[in-house]
Amino acid sequence: MNDDLKERLSGLEYHVTCEGGTEQAFTGCYWNTKTPGVYHCVCCNVPLFESGAKYDSGSGWPSFFEPVEASRIDTVEDRSHGMVRLEVRCGDCHAHLGHVFPDGPAPSGLRYCINSASLKLDPTEEGGAS
Ligand code: FE
Repeated sequence: MNDDLKERLSGLEYHVTCEGGTEQAFTGCYWNTKTPGVYHCVCCNVPLFESGAKYDSGSGWPSFFEPVEASRIDTVEDRSHGMVRLEVRCGDCHAHLGHVFPDGPAPSGLRYCINSASLKLDPTEEGGAS
């Protein structure tokens, strides 16, 4: 992406969002967070996920069963590491966020497995029941 982001983001935030990296499970700042609010893209600040859609998947990464709006995110087929996965990107700035898997809870059946390093929680915003 650009030099501005490299200056503004932490090394890990840049690695995840701009280089498609993954933080280690159970190490990110939001994997176990239950604080109500809205999670924004750390790069461009658009709202991506609400605390009301966050659930404990046991994976060690923040997990959501749906985004704020489907149009807020892009999904891209990812064939790296010998797997076929659906990569999740910010629909606005295309920052890498994580992956989506078809093993989430009802009603969506989806698990958006997102790196804490790609998110910034705003606890002053209404994010629905958590
Ligand atoms: Fe973004």
